[in-house]
Amino acid sequence: MVIVMEKHIEESKIETVVAELIRRGFDVHRSTGSDQTVLGVVGDVASVDPREFELFDGVQEVVRVSEPYKLSSRTFKREKTVVQINGCKIGGKDVIVMAGPCTIENEKQLFETARAVARAGAKVLRGGAYKPRTSPYAFQGMGVEGLKLLQAAGKEFGMATVSEVMEISQIETVMQYVDILQIGARNMQNFNLLSAVGQVRKPVLLKRGMSATIQEWLLAAEYVMSGGNYQVILCERGIRTFDTYLRNTLDISAIPVVQKLSHLPIIADPSHATGRRDKVMPLARAIVAAGADGLLIEVHHDPEKAVCDGPQSLYPEQFVELMDELRIIVPAVRRTLPS
Ligand code: PEP
Ligand code: MN
Repeated sequence: MVIVMEKHIEESKIETVVAELIRRGFDVHRSTGSDQTVLGVVGDVASVDPREFELFDGVQEVVRVSEPYKLSSRTFKREKTVVQINGCKIGGKDVIVMAGPCTIENEKQLFETARAVARAGAKVLRGGAYKPRTSPYAFQGMGVEGLKLLQAAGKEFGMATVSEVMEISQIETVMQYVDILQIGARNMQNFNLLSAVGQVRKPVLLKRGMSATIQEWLLAAEYVMSGGNYQVILCERGIRTFDTYLRNTLDISAIPVVQKLSHLPIIADPSHATGRRDKVMPLARAIVAAGADGLLIEVHHDPEKAVCDGPQSLYPEQFVELMDELRIIVPAVRRTLPS
C-alpha cells in the first residue's frame, strides 16, 4: 500500500500518519520528493480499509500496489532513483559506463587497464577480488589485496569502484574499499546475502540471475530495499535460453520493461551476455539505444593473458572505439555522456 500525501504539507501531518502506521505494526518507507511525500507501507495490509487512511489530514490518496514488489515499483516512487557516487549520477540523464577487468590479477594489469578506460571516458572501475568461478580449480580472486589495488586505481584515475561480494562475511571488508557492492547473477536469490546488503548504506549493483524472471529480479531488489538500502542499480547480464551459440542471451527487452515497472536505475553487461568480444560492441550500442542508464564492460590491457574471461574482454583500443560510437548514439536517445 502506498499513501500519497498532499503537496507541500506540514511535517507534523506526515508524522501523524507514520505514527499510526507504526502503531499498527507496519514498516514504513518514506520517499520524500521535491514537493510531495509518499509513504510505502509494508506488512499485512490486506486487512486495512484504505478509507481509514484517506481520512487523515493531509492524505491525498491511498493506492494498493498490485505488484508483489513494492519499494522498487513505480507506484511507490514515480521519479527515477538517482544513485550518486563521487559526483557521478547513475539513473539521471547521463549514461554511465563502468569498465575494467573481470578479475584483479596484479597491479600492472589493473593500473594499465584502469588508465585506458578512464582516458576513454569510463566513470566506474570494475574488478573482481572474490570471484564466483564455475570450477573450484579456477583462480578464485586476490581477495583483500585486490580490493586495495582497486581502491588505489580508482583514486589514481578519478573513478568510482565496483566489486563483487559473494558472502555475508565479505561485506564489511569490501565496503571499506569500494563504492558499489556487486551481487552476482549466481547470488541473485541468495536471500540472506540480499538482506545483509540491505542493512548497509552503500549502493548495490544487482545482477539478474541467469534464469530469473523480471519479477524475481525486482523481488530480489526488494530484499535489499526493505532493509532500508534504497540505492540499488539493476544490471541485465543475459539469461539462459534454448540457444547455445553465445554464453547467454541478452534480454534487451528487460531494459524498457524495467524502466516502466521500476524507478531503479538499470544498466546492462554485454560482456557476460555474449562471452565474445566481437559481439560486445553491437550489443553495447543496442543497450544504450534501448534506454539503459549505463553499461558494464570487461576490458583487459592484454586479454590473451587474462586469467578470467579473456575472450569477452575488449582490447583498450576497442573500448575507445565503443566510447566514440556512444558519443553518437547517446544524444540520439536524448541522453548525455558525463564530461
Ligand atoms: C562479473 O561481473 O564479474 C560476473 C561474475 O558476472 P555475473 O555475476 O553476471 O556472471
Ligand atoms: Mn567476468
